[in-house]
Amino acid sequence: MNFVIRKKPLKLLWLEALLKRLRERDPEASYFIEQFRRLDAGFAGEQRVDKEWYEIICPNTFFVLHNIVLANAAKHSHQLDTLFICNHFMLVVEIKNISGKLDFDGITYQCTRTKPDGTVEGFPNAITQIQRHIRFIKIISKNYSLPIEGAVIFSNPSAIIENHPNTVPIFHVSGLQSHIQSLYKKHPKPILTDEQLTRFVQLIRAQHQPQELLTRIDSSRFRHGVLCPKCKYKNQMFYYRGIWKCSVCQHTSKEIFAEALQDYQLLVNRNITNSQLRKFFGIESSDAANRLLRKFNFPGIGTTKNRVYHLPENLTEYMKQFF
Ligand SMILES: [Zn+2]
Repeated sequence: MNFVIRKKPLKLLWLEALLKRLRERDPEASYFIEQFRRLDAGFAGEQRVDKEWYEIICPNTFFVLHNIVLANAAKHSHQLDTLFICNHFMLVVEIKNISGKLDFDGITYQCTRTKPDGTVEGFPNAITQIQRHIRFIKIISKNYSLPIEGAVIFSNPSAIIENHPNTVPIFHVSGLQSHIQSLYKKHPKPILTDEQLTRFVQLIRAQHQPQELLTRIDSSRFRHGVLCPKCKYKNQMFYYRGIWKCSVCQHTSKEIFAEALQDYQLLVNRNITNSQLRKFFGIESSDAANRLLRKFNFPGIGTTKNRVYHLPENLTEYMKQFF
């Protein structure tokens, strides 16, 4: 078996960084908080389903790809929560982490959820989303002729699935294991060799479009600098002789710089120069800023003074080795 680990969505990382730093009384604060809640719940739900994949007992080779983003000919994107691929079939999974009583109307295509207090609201139709993905995957996998199955999985144990059409299976996460077994029964003959399967998975992964952040907000709306975690990120820490120190509670840390630089990367820019570093983090000395930047061996272009440093992905992870 093979797994590609699910990464936190970029938008969620962005919102985490923003909410830590957003200035008091920002007019869109409640909008960002709501967006964060929704994405955070979605990610938690996906992780709950991911645990189930690890428990699948299956003698065959299979791959589980998470958060695959593919673009179709019209340049519209298909974001697949999970794609399970084995020699016999593939399964496109849409994961929903919502609670309440859920109804799918097969005629109007309207999906609604009824909350315990009786309020009814609509939510995107997961069945039509799956069908759209399946039509697209059929096109890109035409040389491999693997049957394509779909499923909508509810990760929230308190969701009650009521009326739904029988076009795409809909079930709770606890039903995943037996659903996979039933698909092996439905498709008993292997279509691909292990080698063909690996090649097909490579093809899909090569087409994956890395996430891009499209939102940026004006930097005057959030607090700059290295912020003190002990003061709930309200107060700035200052750099002196290689150490960051909180101006209010006196807390000191070296490693906190990684988190703050990741915030900068998410909120401001993926590149940084000596003068941008000094300005954002409140460092006066150009030499100190230079030493700090060089310490982490960031790739970059240009000579020392005007060098543009490129901040790598998984920045806090990357920087750990240098502390
Ligand atoms: Zn503090």
